[in-house]
Amino acid sequence: MPRHSGAVIACGHSRERTKTVQSFAELDLIEPIQRAVRAENYTTPTPIQAQAIPHLLTGRDLLGVAQTGTGKTAAFALPMLQRLGAATKHPAGPRGTRSLILTPTRELAIQIADSFRTYGRHLGLRQAVVYGGVGQKPQVDALSRGVDILVATPGRLLDLMNQGFLRLDRLEIFVLDEADRMLDMGFIHDIRKVIAKLPKERQTLFFSATMPPDIARLASSILRDPVEVAVTPVASTVERIDQRVLFVDRANKRALLAELLKDKAIDRVLVFSRTKHGANKVAEDLAKRHIGAEAIHGNKSQSARQKALENFRAGKIRVLVATDIAARGIDIDGITHVINFDLPNVPESYVHRIGRTARAGADGIAISFCDSEERAFLRDIEKLIKQRVPVVADHAFPPGRGAAAEVLAAEPRHGQHQRSARPGNQRRSAPPRQGHGHGNGQSHGPQHHASRAQQPRAQQTVPAGRSLGRG
Ligand code: AMP
Repeated sequence: MPRHSGAVIACGHSRERTKTVQSFAELDLIEPIQRAVRAENYTTPTPIQAQAIPHLLTGRDLLGVAQTGTGKTAAFALPMLQRLGAATKHPAGPRGTRSLILTPTRELAIQIADSFRTYGRHLGLRQAVVYGGVGQKPQVDALSRGVDILVATPGRLLDLMNQGFLRLDRLEIFVLDEADRMLDMGFIHDIRKVIAKLPKERQTLFFSATMPPDIARLASSILRDPVEVAVTPVASTVERIDQRVLFVDRANKRALLAELLKDKAIDRVLVFSRTKHGANKVAEDLAKRHIGAEAIHGNKSQSARQKALENFRAGKIRVLVATDIAARGIDIDGITHVINFDLPNVPESYVHRIGRTARAGADGIAISFCDSEERAFLRDIEKLIKQRVPVVADHAFPPGRGAAAEVLAAEPRHGQHQRSARPGNQRRSAPPRQGHGHGNGQSHGPQHHASRAQQPRAQQTVPAGRSLGRG
C-alpha cells in the first residue's frame, strides 16, 4: 500500500515550468532506483518529487519550501543516489565524504538515513549517520574509510570534524534540511562553520518549511541559481480525516482528554499542545491518571525525545504529547487519532497536525478542543480548509454558559478544576457560532446541568468517548 497520502499536497508550484509527471517511470531514474521505489509501492511521484527530481538529476541547486510528509526525502535522496551511484570512480578517500545531509534532530537523521538505505539498496553505496547523545566510536569507525552519503546533526558533525575524523573538502552534494528549525534550535553558527569547510564547486539543496527573511538570506548566500519548488499542504489534506471539535472550558481540557481516552479505540494518539510547558503538564496529568503518555518538545534532550518516540512507535505508550515544532518531521505510521489539546494560532499548523493521522493510506480522526479564547483560531482554520468542523456537543465537559453552570461543570469528582468557576471564565465564553449547532446551548440549560451534576459525570456522557473512537 502506498505510504504517502497524495491528498496531503493539494498544490505545488515551481518557479520553472515542469511537465506533469504521472509515474516514476517517466522520471529519468536508473533501474535499480526504480526497483527500490516500486518495492516501496510508490506509484506516483509527489509534487515535490515530480518538480525537483528532473532538475536535481542535472545537477541544479534547489530551494525547496516543503516539510516532512510531502515526500521531500525521496525528492532529494533519489537523484542524489543516482548521481553518486553514477560516479563511484570518485571515492571520497579515507575520512572523506561525497555528500552531506544536515538535519536538526537525531530522529530526523535516523529517518533520512533509513530512507537512503531503502532507496539505495541496490546500489552498494557507503553511508553513515552521525548524531549526538551516543558514543562516537562506532560513528568514527563508519567514517574511517570514507562514505558516499553522510547524514548528520550539526553539533556532532562539527565535533568529529574538529577532531579530524572527517573531511568535507571533496564534497559533491550538500543538503541543508529543515533550515527554519535549525535556526529555531540555535544551530546557525554551527551551520556556518560547516559551510565554510565545503568546496565552492558543489550541488546545494536547501529545504525549509517556512521562508522568513533570515532563512531566505541564508539560502541566497549558499545557493547558485536554484530551482525553486514550494509545496503547501492545504484544504484537501483534510478530506480523508474525520474531524470534530469539542467546545470546552480551558480548565476542563485535561479532564476531557482523560475522559476521551477511556475509549480503547483511541489506540495511538498524538496530542498537540501549543507550548512546551503545556505539553509537559498534559503528559504528567495523564501519567497520574495511569494513562501511558510522554511529551516531546525542544527542551527535552535528544535521548529523551528518541526514547519517547520509540516507546510510542512500539505501542508501549498510547499517547505522545508534542509541540508543533517537535512533532514536525516525525513519521509514525498507525496514528489513529490526533487531538488538538490547544488549537494552533497558525491555521496551516492545523493541517500539518491532523495530517499525521492520515498516513500510510489510512484515514484518521482529528479531535480539537476549543475554549472560548480559541474561537477565532477555529474560524481561521475553517476558512483555510474551506469547511466547517463538526461540533460534538454531547461530551463530558461542555462549556458553562454562566458562573453557576461552570461550577457545576467543574465540581463533580474533579476538585482540581475549580478554577473554571472564576468569574473571568464567564467572560471567556463566547456565544455559540451560528450554523455550528453548539449543542451546549441547545439542550443543556443550567437546570439540566444541575440534575446531571448529581450523577457521576462519566456516566452522563457515554457518546463522547465511544463515538470518537471509531473502533
Ligand atoms: P517524507 O516527506 O520524505 O518524510 O515522506 C513522507 C512519507 O511518504 C514517507 O512515509 C515516505 O515513505 C512516503 N512517500 C514518499 N514518497 C512517496 C510516493 N511517491 N508515494 C507514496 N509514498 C511516498
